[in-house]
Amino acid sequence: MSRVGGVELVSRLLATTVALFLLLSVCSSLAGFEATRTSLDQHESSDSFKTSEPNSTNPTIEEMIAQVSEQDLEKYIQDLQDFGTRYAYTTQCNESAQYIYDEFDKYEALEVESQYFVYNDHTMRNVVATLPGFNTTNNSIYIISAHYDSIVNYPFNPYESAPGADDDASGVAAVLETAKIFSKYRFESTVRFVTFSAEELGLFGSRYYAGQAKSNYDDIEGVIQFDMIGYTGSDDKPDLDIIGDNQSEWLVDLMNDTNDRYGIGINFDKIIDSTLTWSDHSSFWDERYCAICGIEDQEDFNPYYHTPYDYRQTQSCFCK
Ligand SMILES: [Zn+2]
Repeated sequence: MSRVGGVELVSRLLATTVALFLLLSVCSSLAGFEATRTSLDQHESSDSFKTSEPNSTNPTIEEMIAQVSEQDLEKYIQDLQDFGTRYAYTTQCNESAQYIYDEFDKYEALEVESQYFVYNDHTMRNVVATLPGFNTTNNSIYIISAHYDSIVNYPFNPYESAPGADDDASGVAAVLETAKIFSKYRFESTVRFVTFSAEELGLFGSRYYAGQAKSNYDDIEGVIQFDMIGYTGSDDKPDLDIIGDNQSEWLVDLMNDTNDRYGIGINFDKIIDSTLTWSDHSSFWDERYCAICGIEDQEDFNPYYHTPYDYRQTQSCFCK
């Protein structure tokens, strides 16, 4: 159980849900949300977290947190696991990309596109949804990302079964749910929701994305990648390691402060180590962008990692 904003949360997807609370809080602060909904045809000045009093919380952020639907999170993870495998070379992986595309496309405020790239003679794609910022003099972009492809290690066969519920349907679910909630608001900066392919083959989707962004002079201020946030662990507590390099330490600290400020209740481990390059955040480091990665506690790691047993049902003891 966890307490968020004074409310006790009993959750079947505890780790994913609280990680999502943190993601929503941090990103809405960073991107400078408006106090009003888009449906109200009025722009009030953004009361950004960055300018608020220490330890104060923002009611709009709490309103966003309250909109998180655990049923939706479960559905995204279940739907993604139901493709059987999302190994990047398979047609099922491509179908799962279309599923993500269609989910983003439900929200009118988002501009959705597939970014195609070729790896090893196979055409693959990243799925990108953009929520344009309302301040046209501000080119800043914040990225919320995860990888949707999956894999299993020998002796298992990734063409047969790679459900990848924790790795990384959990991260994709957080991206989709954030997109759903954010699409009801307007932000000063542009927010992009990006799901990568071919992470498991060697970060090829994100390398392509970050390289293109650099050559387009995209002004990416920060990237938050979530990769494996579903497993609560044997202690049944929501733990999160947040990994950054020196350049992005401010973003790790902001995550930590927000976790405390909103009483989100994650056991938070700050790790500044530029040698931890095993997920898509490091493709952005290579292009000198600030990026961090959230992952469940490495000391209490998912025993079903890269096996055909990485199901939604094996993520938490609440899931029977
Ligand atoms: Zn992963």
